[in-house]
Amino acid sequence: MNARALELRAQGVDVFAFGVGEPDFEPPQAVLDAAKRAIDAGCSKYTAVTGIPALKSAICAFTETTRGWKPEPANVCVSVGAKHVLFNLALALYEPGDEIVIPKPYWVSYPEQVRLVGATPVLVDTREEDGWKLSPERLERAITPRTKAVILCSPSNPTGCAYTEAETRALCDVLRRHDCWLVVDEIYAELVYEGFRFVSAAKIAPDLRDRMVIVDGVAKTFAMTGWRIGWALAPAELVKALDKVQGQSTTNPAAVSQHAAVAALGTSIEDFARIRAMFQRRRDAMVAGLESIPGVVCRKPEGAFYAFADVRGLYGLDWNGKAIESDEDVALWLLDKAHVAAVPGGGFGAPGYVRFSYAASEERIAAGVASIRRVVDAAWRADRTGRTKVR
Ligand code: PMP
Repeated sequence: MNARALELRAQGVDVFAFGVGEPDFEPPQAVLDAAKRAIDAGCSKYTAVTGIPALKSAICAFTETTRGWKPEPANVCVSVGAKHVLFNLALALYEPGDEIVIPKPYWVSYPEQVRLVGATPVLVDTREEDGWKLSPERLERAITPRTKAVILCSPSNPTGCAYTEAETRALCDVLRRHDCWLVVDEIYAELVYEGFRFVSAAKIAPDLRDRMVIVDGVAKTFAMTGWRIGWALAPAELVKALDKVQGQSTTNPAAVSQHAAVAALGTSIEDFARIRAMFQRRRDAMVAGLESIPGVVCRKPEGAFYAFADVRGLYGLDWNGKAIESDEDVALWLLDKAHVAAVPGGGFGAPGYVRFSYAASEERIAAGVASIRRVVDAAWRADRTGRTKVR
């Protein structure tokens, strides 16, 4: 998909980039200034493996302000992005024979990282009617004596769904009865809309903190995907293990990036509100636009910046003499004809769906959706199957 998008771009085609999971704007000016200052101040050397003290303090303060609980610096391991955090966790915690419970749809790296260390991902179905959220009953059924950890992502990539306080509490109640780790990826926690109140599992179940890891980072909230700073909030013993793992692989994350992240975490609450309001408008534009396309159904997500659309209603439409019959067909068709890049749901364990990132300007979203509509409308007009349009 990516290769085809690049090919089209090389031909001068204006491709709508709804595939990528990164904000389309620059980090706050204070971040850029802090990085320049760090370069001038000679921050060119190795740092402590798990991060500089100033960043750990900033992470603790940020967690207290935004999540309502305060970790200690000994609970923090800063790594080269949240993906690296999760990979370090896999190396430190999971062994062959261990089962790691992961609700479907999942962010692509969760099961792959588990497999890379020889453990077994246990992929648990969720239903769109339940907002793609894991129910306590399904969690209970998935846990066995081999379960080493459960990985949750809220708000979720790819669905944008976020667990309410009551839903997280119900899952914690189940976990309290079992001896396993809870890993919660909260990288999108600041990006929730329409007053949705995100409450961290660490706030809800302090008694589980001794076997809980919160994964977070600056990539999404502060538009810093390329700076590569993420962190684990974990019991001090586990942080020591992560230190050992990271000390034999990457050593510290880039020193300048760490200084930039300190500045990012000092961003004011008003700035968060502005960014949230902007993404909410984009979400509304994307979801309303997709919903207006015959054959596409799209649930309104609570957070992150993804719309996860059911495209099965488009199956059977003609694409150059061949019937469209999968989410991959839909995504390739839209790329080819509408010049819209999006990600087929199969890779997230949800065939039949396509993920559209709305980390793009409202103008781009409107133009991209109009382009999809033109292509789909034409396909319905040419449809000879005699069926009526699916809403
Ligand atoms: N977790 C989720 C759910 C993500 O969507 C991403 C990025 N796509 C990451 C982790 C990785 O973030 P980072 O760029 O900090 O490695």
